[in-house]
Amino acid sequence: MNLILFGPPAAGKGTQAKRLVETRGMVQLSTGDMLREAIASGSELGQQCKEIMSQGGLIADDIVIALIEARLKEAEDAGGAIFDGFPRTVAQAEALDEMLAKLGKQIDHVIRLKVDDEALMARVSKRFAEQGRPDDNPESFQVRLAAYNRNTAPLLPYYGDKGLLTEIDGMRAIEAVATDIDAVLG
Ligand code: AMP
Repeated sequence: MNLILFGPPAAGKGTQAKRLVETRGMVQLSTGDMLREAIASGSELGQQCKEIMSQGGLIADDIVIALIEARLKEAEDAGGAIFDGFPRTVAQAEALDEMLAKLGKQIDHVIRLKVDDEALMARVSKRFAEQGRPDDNPESFQVRLAAYNRNTAPLLPYYGDKGLLTEIDGMRAIEAVATDIDAVLG
């Protein structure tokens, strides 16, 4: 099974993905985590992306598509992927469909975690205080939110038209959201 966890930054996608990894043995594919690892390792890719990421901008489609492609087969062989923070543009969504089709697979569910902007701001300022992630500073976060609204939200009709989209209220406790996700996945 392949699942996309969809929603704005700090909606809880990573938290829910990690739980599904534990409970279902699926593989979390987070392009944000991959990019942070590249930065931490000091690789050329990391150097290239560091500035854009810390300012809250989107990394080029071909870069993130290649990151997913490199891990996709392994995830499929392991029982399926949870895409977290990918796709973020229509071009990425189309590339993902093509990559999966080549493996004889498809997206089975897209779950949108709905959280209002005020709650996102509160979550992210708490996370910034606790973890100091550079792109959680208020200015970068505004840029990330704007990128979500401009580039990523248009994916909702893309998946809605395919009948794959379920919306879940992500304002509630982690466990309540998890229960609703489990009900969708069966
Ligand atoms: P995330 O951890 O998913 O919030 O991602 C953190 C940052 O990594 C984003 O603000 C972007 O700069 C970059 N990034 C992660 N995934 C993508 C993606 N699919 N497309 C473009 N940029 C991405």
